[in-house]
Amino acid sequence: MPGFASRMSSLGVESAFIVLSRAKELERQGRKIFHLEIGQPDFDTPEHIKQAAIDSLREGFTGYTPSNGIYELREAIAEAVSETRGVNVSPDQVVVTVGAKMAIFAALMAFVNPGDEVIIPMPAYPAYESVTNFVGGVVKPVELKEEREFSPSGEDIARAVTDRTKVIVINTPCNPTGGMYKRRDLEAIVEVARERDLWIISDEIYEDIVFDGRKHESILSIPGAEERAVMVSGFSKTFAMTGWRLGYAIAPREVADAITKIQLNVTSCPVSFAQKAAVEAIRGPKDEIRRMVREYEERRDLVYSEISRIPGMKMVKPVGTFYAFPNVKALGLPSSTIADRLLNEAGVALLPGTAFGQLGEGYLRISFATSKEILSEAIERIRRWVEENFPNL
Ligand code: PLP
Repeated sequence: MPGFASRMSSLGVESAFIVLSRAKELERQGRKIFHLEIGQPDFDTPEHIKQAAIDSLREGFTGYTPSNGIYELREAIAEAVSETRGVNVSPDQVVVTVGAKMAIFAALMAFVNPGDEVIIPMPAYPAYESVTNFVGGVVKPVELKEEREFSPSGEDIARAVTDRTKVIVINTPCNPTGGMYKRRDLEAIVEVARERDLWIISDEIYEDIVFDGRKHESILSIPGAEERAVMVSGFSKTFAMTGWRLGYAIAPREVADAITKIQLNVTSCPVSFAQKAAVEAIRGPKDEIRRMVREYEERRDLVYSEISRIPGMKMVKPVGTFYAFPNVKALGLPSSTIADRLLNEAGVALLPGTAFGQLGEGYLRISFATSKEILSEAIERIRRWVEENFPNL
């Protein structure tokens, strides 16, 4: 067999999908498995959104669309983002992409030359590191510290900037930590990006899943960000639309054109009828979204109180997303061993913190995008496993 291109060795994989397939294999063998590994809402896409896709299919909206998405959707996104961020985004600055992932890939592809440094606060969603490596960039991790509730320090980020730095990638609310950036953190990031002439990619896909009445702070609301920030968001999480593969980037015009050019070469355009559904998602009623977020918040409370009762585990209360990131350092085993053993011995599938980079060592990631009944039973199994195996804690 002829060899692969050398760049293939730098492309990573997402552990959630690997753990999911291992868990499915155990289920095939007849084992009962509790799934806390995958970051996918357990809710169905709201009916009125599905109906808009069905209507557009019936009307024959089944051809290619412009590469950056249909105008109607770009306009709806521009209006919504302008309102939530208090800025003036035009539809020309919006690129509708095949999932937020495509926007992240295209932005890194557009910005990073071989040898350029990309600062990534970590632990982080694995695609940032994988794509940076793939395009020949060099990842410069900045530790998100538990004692700061996983909020980054602007000073730490500024200190990590060198003459080779090209991009800072941030994610708020953050997968896997459930932490959120404060406005002053974002201001510090924009300040250093302006001083050192850097791009910022801000992944805000969990922007609507925030708790305790908090307000999501967006990079776009920070003065000076508009000429150097790509804000990425999408429909997967807020609207329970992971399978529709629809996200978007908001960027300066030239950057939006570059992202479009990459998407044009890879997928031509996002799916036509999914885009019509997305217009309905943005412009239609939001009661179901509010109901889902309330439910995530109740689950967050349940996970927090039950995990905190397990000897050797402690966690920061997540303020957004549907992830908990408990500290399991007291167990004295690598996170990957704990995650493997919990799957095999307790039937609970979750992710080791190291699925989000080496700085995730000592943590586990629990997705609470699943019912309270499943969460309670799964955490009870974790508790029993810890008490049996670590009786002296
Ligand atoms: N960004 C983050 C932080 C995520 O957690 C995910 C999905 O898990 C994505 C992006 C990808 O989203 P999409 O389904 O829109 O590609």
